[in-house]
Amino acid sequence: MRFKEKLTLTLRGYRMLHQLVPGAMLWAFVQNLVRALTPFLNVYLSGRIIDFLAQGRPLRDLLWLVGITVTVNALLKLTEQASGRTVDYLIEKLHAVWEKPLYEKIQTMDYARVEDVRTHAALSEIEIMRSTNGFGFMRLYFSFFHGVRGFFLVLFSLTLTIGAFIAQPAREAGGFRFLFSPWFTVLILLATLGHAAFSGLCSYRKTKKSNRIYRSTESINRQWMYWWRQIRQYQMGKDLKVYALDRLIDSAYIQTTIQDFHAVNGQVQKIFRFYEPLEGALSVVFRIVIYAYVALKALFGAFGVGSIVQYVGGLSQLSSGTVLLIREISVLITNADALKAYFDFTDAPNQKYQGTLSVEKRADNEYEIEFHDVSFRYPGTETDVLRHVSLKFNVGQKMAVVGRNGSGKTTMIKLLCRLYDPTEGFITLNGIDIRKYDYEDYLGIFSVVFQDFKLFSFSLGQNVAASVSYDAHRVQECLHKAGLEDRMDRMPKGLDTVLYKDFEEDGVEISGGEAQKIALARALYKNAPFIILDEPTAALDPLSEFEIYSHFDQIVGDKTAVYISHRLSSCRFCSDILVFDEGRLIQRGSHDQLVADRLGRYYELWHAQAQYYDTAAERKA
Ligand code: ADP
Repeated sequence: MRFKEKLTLTLRGYRMLHQLVPGAMLWAFVQNLVRALTPFLNVYLSGRIIDFLAQGRPLRDLLWLVGITVTVNALLKLTEQASGRTVDYLIEKLHAVWEKPLYEKIQTMDYARVEDVRTHAALSEIEIMRSTNGFGFMRLYFSFFHGVRGFFLVLFSLTLTIGAFIAQPAREAGGFRFLFSPWFTVLILLATLGHAAFSGLCSYRKTKKSNRIYRSTESINRQWMYWWRQIRQYQMGKDLKVYALDRLIDSAYIQTTIQDFHAVNGQVQKIFRFYEPLEGALSVVFRIVIYAYVALKALFGAFGVGSIVQYVGGLSQLSSGTVLLIREISVLITNADALKAYFDFTDAPNQKYQGTLSVEKRADNEYEIEFHDVSFRYPGTETDVLRHVSLKFNVGQKMAVVGRNGSGKTTMIKLLCRLYDPTEGFITLNGIDIRKYDYEDYLGIFSVVFQDFKLFSFSLGQNVAASVSYDAHRVQECLHKAGLEDRMDRMPKGLDTVLYKDFEEDGVEISGGEAQKIALARALYKNAPFIILDEPTAALDPLSEFEIYSHFDQIVGDKTAVYISHRLSSCRFCSDILVFDEGRLIQRGSHDQLVADRLGRYYELWHAQAQYYDTAAERKA
């Protein structure tokens, strides 16, 4: 990456940091200005105290000076503590919000990217740089700290040491006259700069190399994080126990990961072991030069004893400040790689066409959707999972989609919700290609219960409403329609009962069937004109399933409903049944029409399944 690009990324990072946590930079500035000022003032004031003592000044003068020193220190300490507390709070805030743009991006990115392994790899790379070298947004902030401190240290120590450079000898310096030449001053300043530049270079090389090593561990790190997440989820406990999966995790991942991490740390340590002694040795040499320079000048009477403390302290601070400043600049140069990974992620444009038309809100719910010769294959795969599907969803109708596993039923719903766009053909809503609608607006007309729906550790009411505040009466009504009334009555805090035990000791564990009913209630609460249920009764007991079918019309009201199932008996109540097979829509009609076609797939599936339903009613059908 070119320097200009790094600079642009860094400036952009600082602008964003300011937007995320306004005031953070200002308070860091105040805190570090005070931190830099304190040693400078103390070196100066203690130098003056020694001078007063050496000159035998009256005790009153001395007490005044001590009083000023104590007061100034107290004031500086107070300011430092007040700004320090504010900065600590702002750091916490920054820790909490710097990832927000990443989450927002995940929420709005093309769904194909959400499912793409490269997206997880990119996030994991950002995480690695943060957790190993602390690079990324937080680093920008800490570098600002050190940068401000370094800058003021340089500034103050230069004013403090200027006397050392210009002081002339009181007696003949002989062969040491060169010490008082302006060229020697330039040489000392160049040595200070050189020392800092060397330290900055070492720091740059160390971080650059270690970063490269850490980044190469992205996939190991992702596996590690994956297993760590799984093991921590108590819901995984049953499978882990029954299949003794800890052995698999241990031998397949943990052992190798530990070895890999060990090897990586070894490589990083090697880099640090190479550079750190070099930096240390140069620092010692540099200090000796400074001490000798000041001591020799004092020896030739250029300044008093008190000034030795001031000048040695000042020159050390000058060196520390320059090192800090240059090292942070080098860190920022490397940190730009982490910022690039961050901004590459948040900037990645959506490939999907973004329409702008708003979906007309119709009181009569007259939304008509049609698939026009739609084919689809998942990105990066070779075969079509939907082939030339043409169909129309009749307004207000209850429609069932049946077919064997893998026949493309769920994929059709994903296309309907525009999680993916068709590879061929198109879909229309009221005659207009769905790509032309504003996506959020378009999604507003669907309520979907996916097969692999998720509920979260929020309260029951919040789960149903998908919102912090909600209409409790309507939530209860939806739970009632979904058949969860009895269970709801047994919940200790009613709608405020938290689901699962991730956070709350009195959170409730719910069964798979109960979860499915809550997910159905969530879909009803959204009150969208289309309701799509993908295997909504798979986890329900036969009685609950029966309840749902027999009240299906009542549950979904005048909405257009699509009911997907591989269990044909669950779909009989729908007047319009679509049969999918290997991605094709092969039959459509009522149960009676379809079952009458003895050569059709429906007939075959029905009879294959009917033998498992040992009820007179199903036999008769
Ligand atoms: P159904 O809902 O009828 O059981 P799906 O629509 O879920 O079937 O799946 C149809 C086919 O698409 C299956 O062969 C499945 O493996 C494949 N498939 C589903 N999701 C993906 C995906 N994200 N990437 C690649 N292939 C997928």
